[in-house]
Amino acid sequence: MTLTKTDVLAWLKRVAEVIAENKEYLTQLDAAIGDADHGINMDRGFQRVMSQLPTVEDKDIGTILKTTGMALLSSVGGAGGPLYGTFFMRMGMAVAGKEELSPEEVLTMLKAGLDGVVQRGKAEVGDKTMVDTLTPAIRTLEDALAAGHQFDDALDRMVAAAEEGMKATIPLVARKGRASYLGQRSAGHQDPGATSSYLILATLRDTFKS
Ligand code: ADP
Ligand code: MG
Ligand code: MG
Repeated sequence: MTLTKTDVLAWLKRVAEVIAENKEYLTQLDAAIGDADHGINMDRGFQRVMSQLPTVEDKDIGTILKTTGMALLSSVGGAGGPLYGTFFMRMGMAVAGKEELSPEEVLTMLKAGLDGVVQRGKAEVGDKTMVDTLTPAIRTLEDALAAGHQFDDALDRMVAAAEEGMKATIPLVARKGRASYLGQRSAGHQDPGATSSYLILATLRDTFKS
């Protein structure tokens, strides 16, 4: 079982659709603890990705993901844009030249993306950010593959952990980003970036299994 270039392109196209479908929802989440633009930002970013993809569709997976990251970086402002830009660019660098990815290579790719987000944003698990979704999800994928689970099963486990991590942000007090300005008042709301990260990982699983 491998993730092919066709799968990666389908993933990115589906992410653009899912972000567009959840634009209002993500923006509402950000209205509660931020500045009500996360859905708008992510939608603008993935529309830019969609306009750039045709120029690299015949290139390798690394180039496709790096181009995705650069499109996000150049079109999404605020905190989310540079962080997701870094996420996709680092994933692309980790799989440079590849036309398909083994499960282990998918894991390596995701880990590289997360490392980039952490280096850039300095958030830890519990700070109420996208890292609260990505970290347990990727760790769970690693554990599932190490335990010998099939790739589709391992992806299901990853998405379940992502959902748990996303929901776990609800009671947290934000320690990074705009929501941290609210202090205790940030508690009781799900983090928008943790939610978009869940959507991105769930879409990876859905694309692979379809
Ligand atoms: P902005 O806050 O600049 O308006 P967005 O609304 O697009 O940017 O994105 C906000 C999201 O970015 C937050 O919900 C959070 O998940 C994420 N975020 C903010 N700061 C950090 C950080 N230092 N590390 C990781 N994620 C962060
Ligand atoms: Mg915002
Ligand atoms: Mg903003």
